[in-house]
Amino acid sequence: MNILIQKFGGTSVSSNSRRKQVVSKVKKALADGFKPVVVVSAMGRKGAPYATDTLLSLVDDNFKADNRQAVDLLLCCGEFISTVVMCNELNNAGIKSVPLTGGQAGIITDDNYNSAELTDTKPDLIESILAKDIVPVVAGFQGINKDGILTTLGRGGSDTSAAILGVMLKAKEIQIYTDVDGIMTADPRIVHSAERIPAMSYNETFQFAEQGAKVIHPRAVETAMKGNIPLVIKNTMTDSEGTIINSMGYRDSKKLITGITHIAGRVQISIRLRDNTKENYKHILKILGDNNISLDLINIFPNEKIFTIDEKDKDNILNILTSMNMNYTMIEKCCKISIIGSMIRGIPGIVAKIVDALEEKNIDVLQTADSHTTIWCLIKEDNVNEAIQILHDIFL
Ligand code: ADP
Ligand code: MG
Repeated sequence: MNILIQKFGGTSVSSNSRRKQVVSKVKKALADGFKPVVVVSAMGRKGAPYATDTLLSLVDDNFKADNRQAVDLLLCCGEFISTVVMCNELNNAGIKSVPLTGGQAGIITDDNYNSAELTDTKPDLIESILAKDIVPVVAGFQGINKDGILTTLGRGGSDTSAAILGVMLKAKEIQIYTDVDGIMTADPRIVHSAERIPAMSYNETFQFAEQGAKVIHPRAVETAMKGNIPLVIKNTMTDSEGTIINSMGYRDSKKLITGITHIAGRVQISIRLRDNTKENYKHILKILGDNNISLDLINIFPNEKIFTIDEKDKDNILNILTSMNMNYTMIEKCCKISIIGSMIRGIPGIVAKIVDALEEKNIDVLQTADSHTTIWCLIKEDNVNEAIQILHDIFL
């Protein structure tokens, strides 16, 4: 079967006029001889009546902490509504469709509520629907565990649903429709001159997603890569060709850098050695790891250890450091900027060029690191938009 997965994000299904655009994308797929499988997110972003964040705000924090199964049931409602509303719209356009929950579409997961992982797939029902030339409209972001209880796949989970279905049904392509023309050289909300990247490899896209480019979820990229199904990021509102992601990617020899991403909400911690706490100091990184605190940008010197953590782990780490009598300082509200390019390693002087350009505009660089494909620098959150614009002007 010539199957195409078409996933539409929250903004794409948020209003009547946008849903009409969705219908036109489905119509086009049918006209081109494909059997589309539509995957939808909840309608709208925070503040919209059925958006995921709105549903989440209906229950108390302490209830959420102790009732993760119930919270998943609540969260699934946003996508349920979307599927039926979308089927209504397709019906108005004369397209036969049927709404399906994630479980009905065959996504079987473990019991890890709020961020469940795929354990099995059951394609029979969805395949029988496709065989009858009916368009399945699947609720994204959710699955069902072996006992039939609803689960959710974690934030960005509708992208993952689309990728799972693509692999399960051996689709020709997984199309992710959103409100921008594809993966851009930087977040277009920050850099207005950001350009669409026509094609990328799975690996490079995974890096982008992991390092903060919200436009696609890293698990979706990983899933599509494992099944070797091409992934395409497109705009619901335009006819742009989007960004094509496959194992080959794209090389523009003139450009050393593919793009710039960032993650806000980082906290930099520096711990200095004090003679009377030598033993604790020696083991501190392991102890933090044992407490499930994930560390990033780690620099080790004989008398000092510097690293960053996510804001959410701040209280936890401060308790540990204090109880172990550690001598530490902390800088809050930091942002990690990633400059990504598959040929970055070995470009002489590139880190110096980045640091000079930022410091010239009085933006302090708190830390840097580099790998084969990425250069990271840590700055204060206040400077992030300006810093990304400066680096984009230099490299892209
Ligand atoms: P959806 O609701 O369709 O899933 P998301 O909000 O998850 O949409 O993702 C789309 C948003 O990702 C865009 O509006 C854009 O602001 C943001 N974004 C961040 N970095 C990038 C990037 N490098 N390229 C494109 N979009 C990006
Ligand atoms: Mg998204």
